[in-house]
Amino acid sequence: MMKILVLPGDGIGPEVVDEAVKVLDFIFQKKKIKVEFDFELIGGVSIDKYGVPIRDEVVEKAKNSDAILLGAVGGPKWDSLPIDKRPEAGLLKIRKALELWANIRPIKIFPELSYISPLKNSDGIDFVVLRELTSDVYFGQPRGIFGDYALNTMIYRKEEVERIAHLAFEMARKRKKLVTSVDKANVLEVSSFWRKIVSEVAQKYPDVKLEHAYVDAMTYYIILNPQKFDVVLCPNLFGDIISDEAGGIIGSLGLCPSASLGSLDLGGGRIQGLYEPVHGSAPDIAGKSIANPIATLLSASMLCEYSLGMKEEGNLIETAIRNVLSEGFRTQDLLEKKSQDEKKKSQKGKRGKTKIKVVSTKEFGDAVVKILKKFLI
Ligand code: NAD
Repeated sequence: MMKILVLPGDGIGPEVVDEAVKVLDFIFQKKKIKVEFDFELIGGVSIDKYGVPIRDEVVEKAKNSDAILLGAVGGPKWDSLPIDKRPEAGLLKIRKALELWANIRPIKIFPELSYISPLKNSDGIDFVVLRELTSDVYFGQPRGIFGDYALNTMIYRKEEVERIAHLAFEMARKRKKLVTSVDKANVLEVSSFWRKIVSEVAQKYPDVKLEHAYVDAMTYYIILNPQKFDVVLCPNLFGDIISDEAGGIIGSLGLCPSASLGSLDLGGGRIQGLYEPVHGSAPDIAGKSIANPIATLLSASMLCEYSLGMKEEGNLIETAIRNVLSEGFRTQDLLEKKSQDEKKKSQKGKRGKTKIKVVSTKEFGDAVVKILKKFLI
């Protein structure tokens, strides 16, 4: 039986994860697929109960699961603890234990929500940022502060670049067949090495086009012409920055899902992974049932695709979310923030005709299940 370890965490984590579990459970029951959910603590709630951000036995459970569905960790209550004792340490421990080397962040704008993007033209934005997660300057040795100088080591090994590059080309093959590899090869040796290896891997994928972009120029292109991208392949440091910028152009943190994959092959094209919304625990809105569950629902959709071999069902979750949005359901963060002039204009437009219904986190999840009931008779 397939196993999902559920780690709701802190703040709005449990609120949004509840909705994702509800939707997944509904699909599994309808499809008569046996999947076991196991719930455990991570983050501040684990510190409060057990004194540590994650227990070793929970890490073991994670290792023995097909997938981990995570909410968010952290909050002001635990901010004064030393770094290695804080809620985030639990997250880092689990990522390390599972050796999750590939972070996938789809950047896609729902046409129903194009008004929420800070860009004038956000129609058709649909690309993926693929970030290498276990190497680069974050892990290179030596590192440290040594009296009057400080040092970090930027490093990439051939095999690390090769495996993430292969994944990028495999992904692009199933999409628009374009990989844009990000580096700083005009200045850094590590980047010029990265570029060389990525170009070598590209030879094996003649059907996929490869482009290279310097990271500084890339930040500019993402704002200017985001529609042109497909798979954006980044080393760890540049990916950290590019993925946040890319998240910004779709307008709400509540819309950005993520998947982190390791090397554990589960058979049948399935890979072990950890799935979580990009946002944090949002203490400012926790407990109010107003959090947007879309990022977590989309993370659950990725979980179906990569770890359960249920791509079709994953796609259904996304389609159901679109349907719910078309019906006018919105959590508070998705309401239009416009000037009076723009408001007048949009009222005449298509969007003005849809009656907007502001709903709670749970009501949004219920609406998704209601649509899925129609799809999965
Ligand atoms: P945050 O993402 O929690 O919140 C930023 C802003 O976005 C807030 O105004 C919040 O209300 C809003 N927001 C976030 N998610 C939302 C959603 N689903 N629906 C509606 N609005 C949403 O970032 P922060 O405030 O900088 O951090 C809060 C805590 O979360 C901190 O302790 C931080 O360390 C932690 N954090 C955890 C993770 C993680 O678990 N992966 C990631 C980022 C931050």
